[in-house]
Amino acid sequence: MNIEAIAGIEAMETVGHFINGANVADHGRRQDVFNPATGKAIRQVALASKEIVEEAIAAAAKAFPAWRNTPVAKRARVMFRFKQLLEQNADHIVALLTEEHGKVLHDAQGEFARGVEIVEYACGAPQFLKGEHSKNVGPAIDSWSEFQPLGVVAGITPFNFPAMVPMWMYPMAIVCGNTFVLKPSERDPSAPMLVAELLHEAGLPEGVFNLVNGDKVAVDTLLTDPRVQAVSFVGSTAIAEYVYQTGSAHGKRVQALGGAKNHAIVMPDADMDNAVSALMGAAYGSCGERCMAISVVVAVGEETGDVLVGKLKAELKQLKVGPGTDNNNDMGPLITRQHFEKVQGYVDLGEREGAELVTDGRGLCVSGFEDGFFLGGTLFDRVTPEMKIYQDEIFGPVLCVVRVDTMREAMDLIDQHEYGNGTCIFTRDGEAARYFSDNIKVGMIGVNVPLPVPVAYHSFGGWKRSLFGDLCAYGPDAVRFYTRRKTITQRWPSSGVREGAQFSFPASH
Ligand code: NAD
Repeated sequence: MNIEAIAGIEAMETVGHFINGANVADHGRRQDVFNPATGKAIRQVALASKEIVEEAIAAAAKAFPAWRNTPVAKRARVMFRFKQLLEQNADHIVALLTEEHGKVLHDAQGEFARGVEIVEYACGAPQFLKGEHSKNVGPAIDSWSEFQPLGVVAGITPFNFPAMVPMWMYPMAIVCGNTFVLKPSERDPSAPMLVAELLHEAGLPEGVFNLVNGDKVAVDTLLTDPRVQAVSFVGSTAIAEYVYQTGSAHGKRVQALGGAKNHAIVMPDADMDNAVSALMGAAYGSCGERCMAISVVVAVGEETGDVLVGKLKAELKQLKVGPGTDNNNDMGPLITRQHFEKVQGYVDLGEREGAELVTDGRGLCVSGFEDGFFLGGTLFDRVTPEMKIYQDEIFGPVLCVVRVDTMREAMDLIDQHEYGNGTCIFTRDGEAARYFSDNIKVGMIGVNVPLPVPVAYHSFGGWKRSLFGDLCAYGPDAVRFYTRRKTITQRWPSSGVREGAQFSFPASH
């Protein structure tokens, strides 16, 4: 891996960059990377200067003409080899995810597997890039549309899925014939770096895929450099909006996926035990640090609310919180001390706002991991829409129960919320489920499915302030996002036939 020990000072490894097929050390700005379970800095990550990012963009720009003209079957073959290498290195990648993110190993395996599924889909590029053809659109005239790559594409990704979210982007961008510069999260940089090296080992030519670690300096360089044609971003809504506006103002195609506050409706006729199991995993899995996590449950009817809260409270007593390296745990720590304090601050705020604190996760001590960023599962009941804990994305193990009288009220709450990433309904009533799916203003819907993350051959994206741009991530939308349509109309009239000038607008008769 691209980890360099700095001679002279206390040996602390630094994750650098990967440019033009080689590891690039960087002795400039850097910051600590933590193991959130122990609370200790375990290595550092370089924060690229503008010049280093420009070097990566230049490498990608140089590699583009040859890669664009490489037969699509050959590009797909690199993805096949990449998939094999990913599977061979799965344990190492998963261990890095747990070490730097904190998620439990079984959860990290799930993340990794969903990332590999995108690579599998990318292997089908010869099929999905075939284009469209129409013969005889006019006399001796044929017409076809082809989908050409854009050029240099950038990806900027969040901390919560350090392997999977980058894999939402670069396999599809690259197999479509683009070259790529990835700027992963500076909080857990090692897994993306290892994956970059595997991509190179799979036979990708130098410069087709580059990775720069960094912060706002790197992001701003990618957003403003005229050689970058398109930007895919995933992260918080404030930054997504900034990326969308800045990138668009610089003439780039941008898709920017933002934050979420995903509601689950529980109807009075729901299978309550199964709904509660599903909600536990969706609310507290990965410590609530998922953009598809359920953070609000809307109970329809007082009795539903009472049963639900009683069962969730009982389940929370069984929730196992501890280091991600122990596969018996359900939930690990939060990503950083700063984020831990922010989430804990929301629990304090919820109390002040008057919500009923049913289970308090504060003050949790994990034996042997006293300095880790652990917060226990927290449950608030009788949360109302005016409260900040209802409005804001907390991104931690905090579940809010809101009580309403009707399904219409529950749907209005969801529709009025600024985010529209995912939502689900628990019910046995097919008509209610169908009405909900058809009418709710959210991009990804579950019916008795708490985390309706679309599979690799569909596409992922929310509505409202959860997605800026027109096309979703991966799947068929990625083919459209990473290519540009070109339509060619061609005529080969029979020789010897002389035709006069035509001044009327051409039509097919
Ligand atoms: P973040 O917005 O802080 O960071 C995302 C990326 O933006 C990182 O690479 C970071 O370096 C960069 N960045 C941060 N501040 C910046 C600034 N001021 N200027 C330019 N770039 C900046 O997000 P995060 O905390 O890493 O991730 C969690 C967020 O991501 C949550 O809001 C979550 O909902 C969201 N998320 C959304 C999806 C989705 O598909 N909608 C998926 C995963 C995560």
